[in-house]
Amino acid sequence: MTRGLARTSVLLALGLALLAGPFATPARGGDEHGHDPADEAAEAAAWRTPAEADDFQSTPSYDDTIAFLRRLEAKSPALRLGFYGTSGEGRAMPYVVASREGAFTPAAARTLDKPVVLVVAGIHAGEIDGKDASLMLLRDVALGRAPALLDAGTLLFVPIYNVDGHERVSPFNRPNQDGPRKGMGFRTTASGLDLNRDHVKLESPEARALVGLFNAWRPHLHVDTHVTDGVDLEWTLTFSLAEAPQAAPSIQEWWSFNLPPVVSAMARGGHRIGPYVDLKDGTDPTKGFESWAGEPRLSTGYFNLRNRPTLLVEMHSYKPYGERVTALRDFLAVLVRQVGTSGSALKRSVAEAEQRTVEAGKPGAPPSDIVLEWAVDEQSTPVRVPFFDFTVVESAPLGRKVLQYDRSQTTPLDIPWSHRAIPKRTTPRPRGYLIARGWPVIEETLRAHGLEVRRLDAPAELAVETLRLAEPKYETRSYQGRVRVAFQVARERTTRGFPAGTLFVPADQPDFEVAAQLLEPESPDSLAAWGMLNSVFERKEYIDPSVLHRLATEMLKDPKVAAEWDAALAADPALAKDPAARYLWWYRRTPHWDETVGLLPAFRLVGPIEVPLSPLR
Ligand SMILES: [Zn+2]
Repeated sequence: MTRGLARTSVLLALGLALLAGPFATPARGGDEHGHDPADEAAEAAAWRTPAEADDFQSTPSYDDTIAFLRRLEAKSPALRLGFYGTSGEGRAMPYVVASREGAFTPAAARTLDKPVVLVVAGIHAGEIDGKDASLMLLRDVALGRAPALLDAGTLLFVPIYNVDGHERVSPFNRPNQDGPRKGMGFRTTASGLDLNRDHVKLESPEARALVGLFNAWRPHLHVDTHVTDGVDLEWTLTFSLAEAPQAAPSIQEWWSFNLPPVVSAMARGGHRIGPYVDLKDGTDPTKGFESWAGEPRLSTGYFNLRNRPTLLVEMHSYKPYGERVTALRDFLAVLVRQVGTSGSALKRSVAEAEQRTVEAGKPGAPPSDIVLEWAVDEQSTPVRVPFFDFTVVESAPLGRKVLQYDRSQTTPLDIPWSHRAIPKRTTPRPRGYLIARGWPVIEETLRAHGLEVRRLDAPAELAVETLRLAEPKYETRSYQGRVRVAFQVARERTTRGFPAGTLFVPADQPDFEVAAQLLEPESPDSLAAWGMLNSVFERKEYIDPSVLHRLATEMLKDPKVAAEWDAALAADPALAKDPAARYLWWYRRTPHWDETVGLLPAFRLVGPIEVPLSPLR
């Protein structure tokens, strides 16, 4: 349970507070320093970032970004450039560690009292504001202008996550975006995957690399930087985070104390800032706003499942690039400085959230549910939004209504805002999952998430719930390169024999919610729902009708079977008329039927597991 404000809405309190804020002098990213003004001007000119040097008309290429980071690294012992993976097109994926103590490895960072903060830019490579804002901050660090940032923690910057998309430059890549005028990268990877839909299935080498970086460092705060796509209003910077109950209470509480000062400081600094939202009705803003429930495939859903505070920052796409980048630079600086005032509370809130998951999964823990899917509550709260004047016009070319804005005028609108996540689908928390061997996609994905996986050293009879999938309905078009599938799920509690070597994913581990999302078939991000386990639906063997005829004729001599058959025919006229259905009815009753048809190769452990286990190597 959380206290006071935490149970109300952090976002709402913020949204209302900041709208009244006066617009004063913009905040600067650097800290107080006492240089000679002339020296300072020369230094500033020499150390302009590539975007600054081009007056924010362009953003530097991958090579130019790396070259600038190398200069910074050579300048400052507090910076280290590293690479954490290789993209589909073979580019090394860069990250920068900023640490006064030179804690450039996870082990070194863990010896410090400070938290680790991860800022990711360019997950959608056309939305690259976060890179140029990060370069400005890192430059300030290198020049000793931002000591408070280094005071706050160990800072990890991923300047360009989608490195391949970043190099596919065109000024036409982002129709809804004002700059950089000379061009920006592309949303997806070279193979067309959206990295912000790949956090659970981890199909791309890029997503596997980023999650690997996270596994190694286990940062205490994650920030994902984007640019919006649609609604036009005054705000330059918008943000979103998971609120309770989707966020762990300790994390919600940390936000409730630490986000309002950040937002207030930004508003005081003259930045127009508000919550990130979508229109409920794209042609009628008065109907209100809706926030998304953070789905696990998205960064903010995923890192939330990993018990981290995670903040989505969406710069407003119709604001000029320079305005966006400086606002984001200021925001990141203010946020990190705020972390500096509450670093131990941040670490504690993360530790508490992890411990909560571990405790819930321990043998003997009180029964609890896992939420497989969240929805946004219809219940709303009022919010005042500084919309530009808009009219609804009938578009002759498009044959539909569209909004047109007049940016010379602002009309604040009081509208309802739905933003609270509520559980949509839950399942009782198992004690863990047993995984049949021979499914590399399951094993590799579990391991890529850094989940603890053990193996049975001896065969065992275990109390489990089996999940049998039937009636697959494949979508008629692909999504993220996958044909997703819906199905019926039948559950059965049983005792089942498992051979030595079977994998076991225990529930008492901090990232267990990720395992549940992968393995519970009804999770929208499960491997089954993504169509990655489709072979379970398929019947692999065949029985010749002449063979089945002889078997069925023999079986019908048993009065019990004959009665069942008569009842089945009476109950289902379609069965009577359908030779294929009759074939299956009989095939299933023979000893030749393959019992793994439809059987999910992940079993929910519901009883004790008293069998020797060893770590999976
Ligand atoms: Zn984006």
